Amino acid sequence: MVKATGVFKRFGSLEILRGVDFEVQRGEVSVVIGPSGSGKTTFLRCINHLEKVNAGRIYVDGKNVGYREVDGRLHELRDAEVCRNREQIGMVFQNFNLFPHMNVLENITEAPRGVRRIPAAQAKARAHELLDRVGLSDKAKAYPAQLSGGQKQRIAIARALAMDPKLMLFDEPTSALDPELVGEVLNVMKQLARDGMTMVVVTHEMGFAKEVADTVTFMSNGKVVERGTPQEVLSNPQEERTRAFLARAM
Ligand code: ATP
Repeated sequence: MVKATGVFKRFGSLEILRGVDFEVQRGEVSVVIGPSGSGKTTFLRCINHLEKVNAGRIYVDGKNVGYREVDGRLHELRDAEVCRNREQIGMVFQNFNLFPHMNVLENITEAPRGVRRIPAAQAKARAHELLDRVGLSDKAKAYPAQLSGGQKQRIAIARALAMDPKLMLFDEPTSALDPELVGEVLNVMKQLARDGMTMVVVTHEMGFAKEVADTVTFMSNGKVVERGTPQEVLSNPQEERTRAFLARAM
């Protein structure tokens, strides 16, 4: 579902990604861990072309989100084409990014109605289904400011799912939450995983990684240092840098 090879990304003279290779199969949950500043968020944003890579290739379901390839050379796609490709990828951010002036139902139906042109009644019915799925059926008319962080994040997940994505990207979805609210968001993500969603999750939640991940990737300094099953990477790491990180994180 996702295949990245030799991805480089610079911001000015700062080289943030330095040859990242990465792969997730359909239906798999892939957790990415690593120290702050190692490039995890940047890599996630490259997957859906929120950041443009300087070198390398990233394919989602066999397709390059940001470029057309002709005779092995990359030609940047027009914004409208990138947006169309991006529709298949849901993203959940650390800080929720809900539209503050819209209620929950409007937040969830905005993209299906505006982008997909789905009729209002159908978009609403789907939104109610999704609210039920994230356990917030009673919040359809609430505004983001009236919700807890955990509820906001569950709404953000429902909003992403409303576009029926093939792939979900999570960027530290529980990092901004009070500890007692982390579990409710992780539970929604676990259910999503059980339902077979392909997920790439950047997180510091090692318990989630152990329980849910099919693969764990440890990144450091813009590179993939180690990659394998949770058992391999978290319980029996081969690289000293992974061991040092885990000793601090667990
Ligand atoms: P964290 O766990 O703290 O979120 P991370 O591993 O996700 O860290 P990134 O957020 O990808 O790391 O950031 C990697 C480096 O890239 C950081 O030094 C950051 O300051 C830098 N960076 C990220 N985005 C930009 C940008 N738009 N312009 C300049 N530098 C950036």
